[in-house]
Amino acid sequence: MKTIAYFDATHDLPEEIIMAAGFLPYKILGDVHTSNEPADRYLQAFFCPAARSFLTEAMARSGDWEGIILAQGCNATNRHFDIWKRHVTTPFLHWFNGPSRDDALAHRFMKTEIWRLINALERKFCAGITDEKIASAIRESNVLKRRLQSLSALRGTKDIPNREYFEALVRSMQLPKADAIEEVNAAIARAEQRGPFPSNKRKALLTGSDVTYGEFMDLIDEAGFRIVRDDISEGERYYATLIPEEGEPVDALARYYLTIPKPATKVGIRKRIDYLEQALVQSGLDTVISQNIKFCEAFAYDSVLVNNELKAKGHRVLHVEREFTPGPDNQLMNRLEAFSEML
Ligand code: SF4
Repeated sequence: MKTIAYFDATHDLPEEIIMAAGFLPYKILGDVHTSNEPADRYLQAFFCPAARSFLTEAMARSGDWEGIILAQGCNATNRHFDIWKRHVTTPFLHWFNGPSRDDALAHRFMKTEIWRLINALERKFCAGITDEKIASAIRESNVLKRRLQSLSALRGTKDIPNREYFEALVRSMQLPKADAIEEVNAAIARAEQRGPFPSNKRKALLTGSDVTYGEFMDLIDEAGFRIVRDDISEGERYYATLIPEEGEPVDALARYYLTIPKPATKVGIRKRIDYLEQALVQSGLDTVISQNIKFCEAFAYDSVLVNNELKAKGHRVLHVEREFTPGPDNQLMNRLEAFSEML
């Protein structure tokens, strides 16, 4: 299936438009096992290593893709667009802007951006994107989101390694949705056969920068924590809410993207704190692992206020900064283990 890849620092890009245009939407997540040297030639030192890895992947693989879309998520995405224009070879490079508010004006803005994307895809690929095709893509996305909700709910009662859940999310963003639904169904069936939640693990909520590689999820497991709630893009943000299936589909997509759990780069921290607080209360949790990848300023700045408020409400919060590496990180492991012992 022909692919359109996208760089989205949160979950702002309406994949359903790419699906309705007849392409596979593929979220670029880089590869932590590959040197970022190709991207480093064109990027300033203050860009986060995750975004460097995305550019490295795009430079290596853009020939396999029909085009690339960058969605406005953080300052890295904005600046990257200008750099990718010069250094990534692709027949179609599109900038999708996203509102930093969630009121009526933001809804109008989002609709305009979705129509701009539809028009760009139709002009370039004669894609024939109809309301029926968008509505069908929305229904398929919702099937996947509902299955991910079911898998997620098992995290608190069954023995599901952090990485297994994380990889189901990544594949949901990179495979055709029908294949992803099958894979998630298989993951649910496996999880239901598993033993109960392990007695030697502590339940925690994960927040902060997006996680793009499984080794970090392994490390949290090895330190004795199971992530049973989260607010990251390769996690609950992707399926926490469903896309409305009634009404005009572009309008429904615009409404949906204003209701998902908000990252640090959008609409202020109040909604983020409220979502985290609600998730903790709903799940009977009081342990939070907050992390930001180096140079992810958006989440680093936000973490102080978010974590202080959660602590003031009686939750136990660890904040760590992490490298972008698949290898062992002894310092990080020590911090996580010390936190576990303190609980
Ligand atoms: S890790 Fe932070 S700085 Fe990097 S792309 Fe994601 S939000 Fe932006």
